Amino acid sequence: MDYTEVMVRYGELSTKGKNRRDFIGRLAGNVTRVLRDFPQIEIKAKHDRLHIILNGASFKAIDQRLKLVFGIQTYSPTIKVTKELDQIEKIALSLMKENFQSGMTFKVNTRRSDHQFQYDTNQLNKLVGDYLFDHMSDLKVDVKHPDLALRLEIRKDAAYLSNQTIEGAGGMPVGTAGKAMMMLSGGIDSPVASYLAMKRGVEIQMVHFFSPPYTTQKALDKAKELTSVLAAYAGKITFIAVPFTEIQETIKEKVPEGYLMTVQRRMMLELADLLCQKRHGLAIFNGKSVGQVASQTLASMRAINDVTTTPVIRPVAALDKTEIIKLAEKIGTFELSIEPFEDCCTIFAPPHPKTQPRLNQARQFEKQLDVAGLLERALNGVQVTTILPGEKFLDHPDTEDASLL
Ligand code: ATP
Ligand code: MG
Repeated sequence: MDYTEVMVRYGELSTKGKNRRDFIGRLAGNVTRVLRDFPQIEIKAKHDRLHIILNGASFKAIDQRLKLVFGIQTYSPTIKVTKELDQIEKIALSLMKENFQSGMTFKVNTRRSDHQFQYDTNQLNKLVGDYLFDHMSDLKVDVKHPDLALRLEIRKDAAYLSNQTIEGAGGMPVGTAGKAMMMLSGGIDSPVASYLAMKRGVEIQMVHFFSPPYTTQKALDKAKELTSVLAAYAGKITFIAVPFTEIQETIKEKVPEGYLMTVQRRMMLELADLLCQKRHGLAIFNGKSVGQVASQTLASMRAINDVTTTPVIRPVAALDKTEIIKLAEKIGTFELSIEPFEDCCTIFAPPHPKTQPRLNQARQFEKQLDVAGLLERALNGVQVTTILPGEKFLDHPDTEDASLL
């Protein structure tokens, strides 16, 4: 079908006034960004809906991307025609034929904002319905629960027809909830936490700790590539790589083994917090899940969280591993997450970390370090990049990039 536009219905838009304008403005911006390589497309944000005018671009090509944009409840590919009955009937028939399967029920659902138009909604429902009956066999009406609803809108400028309502991603447009730092490892959990944060409208910036030469370039590239998968939900994501080698080596040398991990995590959180302040973020997100491993007992979280009063939000805290994996598969990060590149925590992980670390002890051991100097040097070494959807960072032997190696 040659659809001419896509009609987008807003999600959870219960708020009014300024918030509503912000919601719509952000959504329009985010949609524009994910469709940036279709320069002919125009986006018109109206009070009740967003219109994506295709100007010749194919609906199929943009469908996969729209599905990922948070803040969209549903959307419908639509055809605009002149307000002449025979035009309307002709397009109605081809739309129906496109999506009809034997045995389906249907109804025509007309709305009219142009009250000067020669037919009213009841007349149009009947006229178009009769036309479809005459030109299709096997058609049954069901006005309550039709399998296919042919929507016809008569507006001032033209008539608009559609017969599909596609489920959007729901949630809130990324950015409407403000900015936060996301602690992204290369594992399964933090990408899922990232997705959930974005779903609620949070603009996340990835903070990733790497420890060369203990961690490889591949481990860093993997975190970047995970970010590029997640960028499809946001349009783009800022990625901050924080060098962590000196901190880890110092901790390893000066802190008793049972507290290595707790002190390391405290330093990570302190760094995330400093970046958060510097970049005007409002919160820190991570991928901790209660009880999953030693660093994730409540006692451990308490001993780590001690370094900041900034809200630390853990979207997957109460999910089971199997639930997290299911989400990881759905959002497209699982396969990458299970690639076996060591991250900095695994390498310095003590064989027997304390599962019930004591707050005072953690503070005490940390005091033996030049914390301020360590933090400052790590911050001086950060590398900030912007990552776009679908960017590749790892070698992909099955793509043409391999020939360049
Ligand atoms: P994940 O699957 O997200 O790696 P995990 O179950 O492996 O989590 P940990 O390795 O203890 O658990 O990490 C817990 C959380 O700490 C991660 O979800 C992430 O938010 C943060 N984190 C761990 N390592 C790093 C890192 N190298 N850079 C940034 N954040 C990290
Ligand atoms: Mg991990």
